[in-house]
Amino acid sequence: MAFITWAYSSGWSRSRRDPGLFLVHQLLSVTGVLGLLIAAPQVAFQALVMLLVFSTDGFLARRRTSFWMTWSGTLIAVVVIIAWLGPQMRMTTDTRAGQALAIGVMFGAVVRCSILVTYFRSMQYRLSASNEKLAVALTQIEELARKDDLTGVANRRGIIERLQQGIETAQRDGSALCVALLDIDYFKQVNDRYGHDGGDQVLRAFGQLLSSQLRSVDCVGRYGGEEFLLVLPGTTLGQAQMLLERIRQHTESLPWSQMLHPDLQVTCTLGAARYRPGEALQALVSRADAAMYRGKQAGRNRVALDEL
Ligand code: GH3
Ligand code: MG
Ligand code: MG
Repeated sequence: MAFITWAYSSGWSRSRRDPGLFLVHQLLSVTGVLGLLIAAPQVAFQALVMLLVFSTDGFLARRRTSFWMTWSGTLIAVVVIIAWLGPQMRMTTDTRAGQALAIGVMFGAVVRCSILVTYFRSMQYRLSASNEKLAVALTQIEELARKDDLTGVANRRGIIERLQQGIETAQRDGSALCVALLDIDYFKQVNDRYGHDGGDQVLRAFGQLLSSQLRSVDCVGRYGGEEFLLVLPGTTLGQAQMLLERIRQHTESLPWSQMLHPDLQVTCTLGAARYRPGEALQALVSRADAAMYRGKQAGRNRVALDEL
């Protein structure tokens, strides 16, 4: 016990492969008890009960092999000692003192087992409580990993994941699916005139506007600098056109001038494409991008469709 206590408190155990020192602990304890069995076979009963008590520590073994090694070694040693010193082993219960010793040993064993069990139970409770906290933290981290800090909408990873899910659903049940790319018009000028902070403010407001305009099944994410991707499940290209047109009008008519500068005017160009069964995610986004590019070419502040 002194050695083990020293090994834990000095930190020596932490440099070992198994900081719990299972094997050292078991070997020391078991050897000590086997020594007692040989030295005083008359009180073999006590030693054998102690060996049983040590078995409660068995589940602390880091590796199954350590557990089986110590126990097969112990059992073999016990069999050898019984064969060797058997005739001298007897329960010392023929005197009052012997009976008291036997009762004491049994009582001690039960107390030790209950203390161990209570200790590990409390450790189990603490572990499950911290596991629950960890699970909550993990959910928050996963949410943060898919969220864009600036605008509060999904980031590229988040929206791509949603699109992937949307494609899988559309592929499975043959439902319609549209995607749209939105790009703020002349955004470089916003940055040039009102600074990067001003540009960020516009992006934040634009993110809020998009979130407020979408239906609950739709999803929006920041795809690039001032480019947003919309995923519209169960939506035909005709329905997408109406939705995007509404977003375009809201963008145009938002009171931007009250936000940064009286001259500020923000518009966006939107390009949409409908998912074709079997199509790859990137091919679908590229068609929406091509449509948006055509919208830019045609003069910006408009909705362009890949086809109808
Ligand atoms: P176009 O109408 O053709 O889209 O013109 P544009 O000026 O918007 O051109 P483009 O899309 O190429 O410009 C994007 C600009 O957005 C360039 C970059 O400085 C700016 N930008 C990208 N990310 C951020 C950001 O997080 N904050 C701010 N303030 N600006 C950004
Ligand atoms: Mg752009
Ligand atoms: Mg732009």
